[in-house]
Amino acid sequence: MAKKPNSFRPRGMPTAAEREREYDRQRNAQRPWRKWYFSRRWKNERLNFLSEPENQFCRRCQAAGLLNPGTMRPDGSLQRDPRRMHLVVHHTVRHHGDPSLFWDRSLWEPICPDHHDSEAQAEERAFVAEMARRGGG
Ligand SMILES: [Zn+2]
Repeated sequence: MAKKPNSFRPRGMPTAAEREREYDRQRNAQRPWRKWYFSRRWKNERLNFLSEPENQFCRRCQAAGLLNPGTMRPDGSLQRDPRRMHLVVHHTVRHHGDPSLFWDRSLWEPICPDHHDSEAQAEERAFVAEMARRGGG
């Protein structure tokens, strides 16, 4: 009889959904502040911030000469995905779970989802590199 493989997981690749869930679980364990994004305080402060007159356009698009209230892509074409027709509050300084940085509005900027994606990807790469440097997983 064949010996069972000496691994935690049963043989066979986990499904994409399982991998996604596991990734999220690890992420949430490593970044407990993620839950702040689901808090009533964040929802209120975020809405408040985005309703201010100076926060009506994506800062990055604006710097490139485009007034984008969240309805456009950075190239000026119309945003086709209705779920992405809004502005996102971006932290300009990585807060690393420091509440005084997280809640400091002077460190927030409104950006469009496309610009937020590129920021998030850059931060993700920095995070992964940092974890590797620390020797963590
Ligand atoms: Zn933008």
